[in-house]
Amino acid sequence: MPSDASASLPSGPLLSARGLHKSFGDNHVLRGVDLDIEAGTVHALIGPSGSGKTTVLRSLNGLEEPEAGTLRIGELEIDLSRPRSRRERAALHRTSAMVFQQHHLFPHLTVLGNVTIGPIRVQGRDRDTVMAEALGLLERVGLREKADAYPSSLSGGQQQRVGIVRALALQPSMLLFDEPTSSLDPELVGEVLAVMTELAGEGWTMAVVTHELGFAREVADQVSFFDEGVVVERGTPEQVFGAPEHERTRRFLQRLQ
Ligand code: ADP
Repeated sequence: MPSDASASLPSGPLLSARGLHKSFGDNHVLRGVDLDIEAGTVHALIGPSGSGKTTVLRSLNGLEEPEAGTLRIGELEIDLSRPRSRRERAALHRTSAMVFQQHHLFPHLTVLGNVTIGPIRVQGRDRDTVMAEALGLLERVGLREKADAYPSSLSGGQQQRVGIVRALALQPSMLLFDEPTSSLDPELVGEVLAVMTELAGEGWTMAVVTHELGFAREVADQVSFFDEGVVVERGTPEQVFGAPEHERTRRFLQRLQ
């Protein structure tokens, strides 16, 4: 189930970004991005490679530091043009957990070790409780019997499911997915999308950078189309896929058909 934070929040955005600007050297990657992630919804971020989707996602989690913009989490407004305070960093980490394109599992730790190290070492939670919860989460994604296995013995799809469980074990208010299936062989994509679809059905708040437009169309509540560092168009999947308003959106969708 989603954590208490998302269940108890009033309806409305769980996380709002306004005016995000980010450059890497001379490359002005984000050029004023606004994004609202509503509690209990799935928000798909789509668009051409290099349009800034991953950089936005990482900014929501504090992994990138935009030069300008604000993030609002509940009552807390973070001015990104200033160094983050401890309280602000803690709020960012509590709010979201990331599932990466490459799962980044520790090769020398078992599956259970990978899932529990964050909650135990970083969050300082009770070891026995965390272990029991982790086994329950692994059971849910069909990997309970792999708890003592090492990542190298798992398929790519299994490793990515462990990546999802590791994010869930941190008990965030929302999950951020950064192209979670793009490094997988095609036959393994389905099992990861199935877990994500299940989580969406349970009411998890999710922001998903994805090239899987079928998933975005069927599972997302909101879709933002990015191009050249801005959100060109946003709306429901029916609006964005069925009746795109902007030429750039139409061109992108046509290229993929
Ligand atoms: P998308 O997710 O839409 O493919 P990204 O946010 O990954 O786009 O990248 C946007 C642009 O920022 C690209 O030109 C990419 O090369 C650049 N970029 C992303 N991360 C870095 C980085 N750490 N250092 C330098 N350039 C980066």
